This record gives sequence, structure tokens and C-alpha cells, in this order.
Amino acid sequence: MNVAPAVEYAGSPFAPWLSGDEEVARLLEDEMERQSSTLQLIASENFTSPAVLAATGSVLTNKYAEGYPGRRYYGGNRVVDRVEDLARDRVKALFGAEHANVQPHSGASANLAAYQALLDPGDTVLAMRLDQGGHLTHGSPASITSHIWRFVSYGVTPAGSSTSSPGEVIDLDQVAQVAKRERPRLIVAGATAYPRIIDAGPFREIADAVGAYLMFDVAHPAGLIAGGAHPNPVGIADVVTFTTHKTLRGPRGGAILCRADLAKAIDSAVFPGLQGGPLEHVIAAKAVAFAEAARPEFRQYAAQVVSNSKALAGALASEGFRLVSGGTDNHLVLVDLRSFDPDLTGKEAQEVLDRAGITLNRNQIPDDPRSPFITSGLRLGTAAQTTAGMGNAQMAVIAALIGKALRGRGDEAVVASVRSAVADLCAEFPPYPGLTGAG
Ligand SMILES: *Cc1c(COP(=O)(O)O)cnc(C)c1O
Repeated sequence: MNVAPAVEYAGSPFAPWLSGDEEVARLLEDEMERQSSTLQLIASENFTSPAVLAATGSVLTNKYAEGYPGRRYYGGNRVVDRVEDLARDRVKALFGAEHANVQPHSGASANLAAYQALLDPGDTVLAMRLDQGGHLTHGSPASITSHIWRFVSYGVTPAGSSTSSPGEVIDLDQVAQVAKRERPRLIVAGATAYPRIIDAGPFREIADAVGAYLMFDVAHPAGLIAGGAHPNPVGIADVVTFTTHKTLRGPRGGAILCRADLAKAIDSAVFPGLQGGPLEHVIAAKAVAFAEAARPEFRQYAAQVVSNSKALAGALASEGFRLVSGGTDNHLVLVDLRSFDPDLTGKEAQEVLDRAGITLNRNQIPDDPRSPFITSGLRLGTAAQTTAGMGNAQMAVIAALIGKALRGRGDEAVVASVRSAVADLCAEFPPYPGLTGAG
């Protein structure tokens, strides 16, 4: 094995392993530098632990393991069977589930597998509309899901007229009405840009009333659920899908939890239905993350993520941004830029903030008059910077810097001064203090 570090990368955490490929080593250094010196406010991102990084970069990547523990198609699976069993046992214990499948390569794959397990082609599915906060895999015309199954949708209530009744929460009456009219075989709860708790109970009642399955896609709040900050839908929904890399803070990937009677259908939908060989190195990293999420510190983390999100929302409101639904009770904030400046689009705001070292994404807001490419909103999340140790005080600073950069967007000196304040702030909260790069 070639472990001699390239001279110019001495001191780099990647050098010992990538000394034979300086181009890639340099790119990893650059990305470490970017993640450490700019603010990561993309709501679906986080900083995994070094232990998760280590498992992801392990020799388990070499092993083919089509099938499931004890039922593999190739030999040599003595160890990976234990890896995958460990991951399944840990995630079942974490969420109190009867069965787990940890093989989905992503949240999208997990959702496709759940649909494939529960539905026949052409069956009707009721899910949240993309422009109201739903996910592409919830039946967007651009997603293959809408070509295989027939999606009908629900959305949020209209924006209210006062701060005491802000509206823009899931319209459960609409869910019930559309369910009664369309008789879906499956109802999907869960969203990708929705700042409130979603309670599985009312969805269960509606599903039962029309004889539908209930699937809950907790891709975003999985870590908040594991950490006890949000209610757990396992045991209420028939199937729960999620990503392991958002608030759950594990490697990039997906997972499915279900009742024991659905285990066979779910497992065969994942393999051989949709995927080939599982990524056992990622499954090992999932096992690491599930154990981390079971620790008492993770409960504190989940509570702090929500507390930071509320602090960020409050400070953004003081800067003049309207908060969709009036606030937040999860890890993300959705702001309507029109109250701040009617001419400022999500696209321009995202670009200005990128130059200022603040990384987030533009997002449509409910009933957005602008296209998904332009948008009138921004989505911000606190999961990553909370991992790096930031608290309420830093959220107030971040909101002020966002306001300053956007107000001064015509003046590059203002944007540059924000960029420098961001770098100072980030230097106090390095995401990987033990893994400082060469730079
Ligand atoms: C992020 C997300 C997904 C997809 O996850 P990927 O890993 O990007 O495929 C699915 N559903 C919801 C609600 C999400 O937010």
C-alpha cells in the first residue's frame, strides 16, 4: 500500500491515502476548506463524525453481497453479514421498528422501493405537492414515480392574515377530501421544505377511513425523531422511509422501516427489485451513525438543532423576512423574500449569499408566483452548524449577516466584508477540529 504523503500535502488528513492522486487529494482539501470556512445552511446537509467517514472509506467497499444476511448470492459474506445485521438491529432499536432494510442507496431509492412493495403500476397515491413542500419522489411530473403510479396531491392552507394565525400548515381537511374522492391505495406523509412537525396520527385516521396504506417519508426529521425532539411515526405508519445523511448525521444513504408482515415485500423490492449489490461500507457507516444517534448527547443535539432553528427564524423575522407558516418547530426555516425586498428573487439571494460564504438554497414558497428555478424564497437549516457547535447567539449573528449581504448586494465591498465575518465565525467552530487540512 502506498502511504507516502506527497510533499505539498504533508499535514493533510487525505495525503496518506491519496498521495498517488494529487488531483483528487487537492479537490478533497479544497472541499474540506470550503466546508470549514463557509456557513453550511443547506437544510438537508450535516457534518458526519470522523467515525462515519472512516467506515465509509473502508475495505467493505470491495465486497459484493447481493441478497441479505444469511441469504447471499456470493461467498465470503461472513463479516458483511454481521455488519448488516448490526446496522439493522441498531436502527430497529433506535426507532422501535419490527423490520429494517438498510440497503437503499438514497432516500429516493428507499421511496421507490416502498412504492414498488406496496403498489401495482397505475395505482393511485396521495402525497404532498412539490411546490407546497413535497419531494420530487412524491409524484413530480419530472420523477419516474409519476410515470409508474398515478399521483394526486394535497398542500398547505393559505397564508393567514395575522401572526396569530399564520396558516401554511398541512391542510388535513384537504387530505381527507382528496382521499375520499380518489381512494388512493397509499397516502404519503412527509416533506422536504416544511418547517413544522408532521403528526402521523391524523394521516393514519384518514388512511384507515379509505383503506389506504400510510407511508411516512421522514428523510428530513429522522434525526429529530431519533433524538426525541419530534414524535415517532414508527408503529403508526405502515412504512417509514428516510435518508441517513440529513438530521440523522450519518453517511449519504437511505433506509426503510416497516411492520414484520411487510418485510418480505420491502426486502424484495429493494433487491432484486431496484438495486444490485448493497454498499456495505456505507451500511457500516449507517451502523456507526445509528449508535451515535442512540446516545444521550444526540438528544441534546436534536434539541439544540430545533432551538437554533427557532433562534434563526426569530432573528430573520427581525431583519424583515416573512417566515412561511410564521416560524418553525424543526431544523429548517423557509423565508419569503418579498417582505424584505419585492424585487429580490431566491435565485439572486442564493447567488449573493454564496459569494458571502453563506451556503443555502432557493426554494419555492407555497403559491409562489415565480418558477422553481427563480423562486421567491430561501430554505435554511441548522443541522450542520449545530453539529459544529454553534448556538443561539451565532444564529443571531448569521441572520444579521444575511440581512447585511442582501441589503448591500449591489456593493461588492459589503459582500466581501460579510464573507470575512463569516470566515471569522467559522474559524471558531471547525466541523473537523481533529482533521485540519494543509491549508
Ligand atoms: C431528501 C429527500 C428525499 C431523497 O433523498 P436522496 O437521498 O436525495 O435521494 C426523499 N424524500 C424527502 C422528503 C427528502 O427530503
